[in-house]
Amino acid sequence: MKKVALVTGAGRGIGLGIAKCLASEGCDIVVGDIHEEAAIRDALDELRQLGADVLYCRADVADRAAREAMLAETRKRFGHLNVLVNNAGVAPRVRADILEATEESYEWVMRINLQGPYFLTQAVANWMIEKQSQEGFEGCIVNISSISATVASPSRGEYCISKAGVSMATKLWAVRLGEYGIPVYEIRPGVIQTDMTKTVQAKYDKLISEGLMVQARWGLPVDIGKAVAMLVRGDLAYSTGQVIMVDGGMTLQRL
Ligand code: NAD
Repeated sequence: MKKVALVTGAGRGIGLGIAKCLASEGCDIVVGDIHEEAAIRDALDELRQLGADVLYCRADVADRAAREAMLAETRKRFGHLNVLVNNAGVAPRVRADILEATEESYEWVMRINLQGPYFLTQAVANWMIEKQSQEGFEGCIVNISSISATVASPSRGEYCISKAGVSMATKLWAVRLGEYGIPVYEIRPGVIQTDMTKTVQAKYDKLISEGLMVQARWGLPVDIGKAVAMLVRGDLAYSTGQVIMVDGGMTLQRL
């Protein structure tokens, strides 16, 4: 039976990079995103050309009813789900100093980056546990956090806190799902070239040329996609709960 992978925020950027790598590995793909389907048709076609059966669910991860509808559609179409990749995430709309940042921005970021994925994981975990008794079923959950889980940026505190929360959520789910043989991992990207980082492109071009990373280039969605594919294949089967750094050595302590 083909594996089915749900990747949130897979309409573009890192999520699309992950979905493409998983499609290339032979997975069918559920894309969860907030765009009109027509706006991401090219992305969905690309996945189909890689051999995947693709279901698009327009679902805001922060919205409980939308999450439930997405899983109900997935159940109806495929009957099972082997992989959940919690990738959808946002940066604050305005980078504001923590002395001034608003509660509205804090709540918006936390609901999308932490609360939504946490409860999506809860629902998927219960479904995977139900399927676990079936011969040959394999489940796996991957959270996309950020180096911001440990690197403090006071101009986007809510983002950093949300990603630190994703790190703890990874540990909690890894511990809870261990008895069911469902590994849970965290991938911690550095600076990746996507729409999210477009507005700070010039700033990071300069920092990269000045030695920000050990590997002097932007990270690409495919760098994250390959790491997820490795986890989904089971290449790191005895490492549940671990963090996989994909940051070009940016957070290596240097002297
Ligand atoms: P992006 O903005 O290019 O793409 C994010 C995708 O998520 C978009 O398609 C967007 O529509 C979707 N999305 C946004 N809000 C959503 C919601 N409420 N429900 C469902 N989908 C939603 O961003 P990206 O750079 O591809 O980032 C993907 C993930 O990687 C995020 O969690 C981000 O925090 C993380 N990350 C990115 C970088 C980077 O440098 N780009 C670094 C570290 C971590």
